[in-house]
Amino acid sequence: MTNRFDPETRVTLRRGLMRRGQELATKLAALLAGADGDRLVRALGLDAKPGARPEEILRAALDQVEQRRRWLDADDDRYGRCDECGVDLGAASLLEMPWADRCKAHPPGAARP
Ligand SMILES: [Zn+2]
Repeated sequence: MTNRFDPETRVTLRRGLMRRGQELATKLAALLAGADGDRLVRALGLDAKPGARPEEILRAALDQVEQRRRWLDADDDRYGRCDECGVDLGAASLLEMPWADRCKAHPPGAARP
């Protein structure tokens, strides 16, 4: 168990994750109803791998947000750390983007070793 976040910060982070999840789910529904997927992906600021379909990108982003929320709820230490190097992203950055999963040295879309 960790206590990296005070209760108030935790509540704010959780709310941010829920909102992001809802936003992604809404866009995914719009996409499935025929909206322009490339535009949706860009509007969400998602990392669009070349060749990936917008639906795949949105589903992956939704999974990622859900996983972060589960980690936060479970007090799992993986929450709020860079997927690549494990550095703590810090409460200030996480409050801006509670679903963040990369540090500045490992931006999304960077080649994995
Ligand atoms: Zn990193």
